Amino acid sequence: MKPAFTIPVPILIVDDLPENLIALEAVLRRDGLEFIKASSGTEALEILLKTEVALALLDVQMPEMDGFELAEMMRGSERTRRIPIIFLTAGVTDRSRRFRGYEAGAVDFLEKPLEADILRSKVAVFSELYVQRRQIAVQRDNLKTFAEENLRLLKDSRDNAQALKEADVRKDEFLATLAHELRNPLAPIRNGLQILRMSPEGPRAEAVRGMMDRQLTHLVRLIDDLLDVSRVSRGRIDLRKERMRLQDAVQAAIETSKPLIDANTHSFTLDMPDTALWVEGDLTRLAQVISNLLNNAAKYTSEGGDIRMNVKPHDGQVDIEVIDNGLGIEADMLPRVFDLFAQADRHLDRSQGGLGIGLALVSKLVEMHGGTSRAFSDGSGTGSTFTVSLPLVDEAGGAIGKPLQKASKTAHPLNVLIVDDNVDSAQTSLWMLDLIGHKATVAHEGAKALEIARDLLPDVILLDIGMPGMDGYEVCRALRQMPETQHKVLIAQTGWGQESDRQKAFAAGFDHHITKPVSLDLLTQLLADIAEPKASPTHTAQAGEPTHG
Ligand code: ADP
Repeated sequence: MKPAFTIPVPILIVDDLPENLIALEAVLRRDGLEFIKASSGTEALEILLKTEVALALLDVQMPEMDGFELAEMMRGSERTRRIPIIFLTAGVTDRSRRFRGYEAGAVDFLEKPLEADILRSKVAVFSELYVQRRQIAVQRDNLKTFAEENLRLLKDSRDNAQALKEADVRKDEFLATLAHELRNPLAPIRNGLQILRMSPEGPRAEAVRGMMDRQLTHLVRLIDDLLDVSRVSRGRIDLRKERMRLQDAVQAAIETSKPLIDANTHSFTLDMPDTALWVEGDLTRLAQVISNLLNNAAKYTSEGGDIRMNVKPHDGQVDIEVIDNGLGIEADMLPRVFDLFAQADRHLDRSQGGLGIGLALVSKLVEMHGGTSRAFSDGSGTGSTFTVSLPLVDEAGGAIGKPLQKASKTAHPLNVLIVDDNVDSAQTSLWMLDLIGHKATVAHEGAKALEIARDLLPDVILLDIGMPGMDGYEVCRALRQMPETQHKVLIAQTGWGQESDRQKAFAAGFDHHITKPVSLDLLTQLLADIAEPKASPTHTAQAGEPTHG
């Protein structure tokens, strides 16, 4: 048995006598060969219109259209002109007939009575040729696809190289801006320290402390924005949404931005309805959005400007408009203001400038609340209007965010153990706790902390994470193992504020996770909640708000 062909080989046989068709098929049958039979030239042409064939076996003597005429018709059409033909002739005389399509494709003659072996071997040769031709066509197609794919990859890699180059330039520019922006607040803080050292009392010292506090707040905001934008771009920011009054976010934002507005002697007016505007939102993040817009209005308006905020509910949504009469935005900059690192060049040297990430954060956070952000300006010197629209929801009795409690002396003093290898950090935390009426003790390393905890049985243990020797996680796990401390409140206090860091802290056994630098207001609130656990949930205006695990 001959080996089968690797692909089906269709063979057309044409004869006016049905018994000849049957006999031919019987002689030639072999795996892989498919026979298409026609009993006239016309029928054969119809088949050839629709079907591709590897070879045509044509009986020469047929009524109406004979084999030669059929062959000539085949040679006349582009679709069929290269099909090899074997004429089955009745005698030598037939061969003398001129066949004009000879040159177009392979032609052979077999005389009747046919010899089965010769017929089979000729059909096998043509079939083999057909298979090879098809394989070459497939390879050619593959090669073409391969070449196209290579071209595409080459173009992609060129595009990527170009994008990388541009990103590299942008990164260098960004690092330069970052260094500049971080150094800006550090200089007055250092000056302030020196002034305080030389003259620690009096009204000037008070003013210096106020200035240092403002600069530090600015520094913390820059770093929080940086961390936030990296979380947002990796889709790793989690909103803690609840049904809340938009007014609470607006008030928190105004509280945050008012010092900057006042420092630039701007006037500020607010037009907001008293009736509750309910939104499904994250209070901290919405306050951050609004305060970003207010800060920009304050920054990009010359001293003594007017800043207005309108809160307008309509058609199931609420528009929060922040309008200033400041520097305005050029038409070419306007479409890009919400892009990451977008900054109008002229602002680069402003001492209050940022990193060009504030508005990118605004638009992302608003988007995550199902809202939209828009910027409008008639151009340079004409002021700007920023509008954030958020969907309103029905009123419901859900929990309403309570604004951050101000630092004040507590009625419920707690015993707190502070564990931090940074002596300054530990000492200032101790002073802060002392100021708000709690009793604090300090330990600078893990083993010592365990010892003190066992002796003093503090209510709360504030643990730094990154410490040499036993780190905060290890100390936490050890405290949870000791019967004396296993039910105490453990707070992780770290410079790492990613969601994964929080999760890691909770997995180690912490009750809360707060990011450094911790504000006094935040600490007051958290300790008050711990002292009176029935109080409603905490909301803070700081990015690294405490998480109740
Ligand atoms: P940053 O303020 O840190 O530069 P933002 O993303 O907050 O970054 O703003 C991007 C840019 O948009 C700013 O650098 C400034 O050029 C422009 N811009 C933002 N708000 C205003 C405004 N109220 N008036 C004029 N220009 C503005």
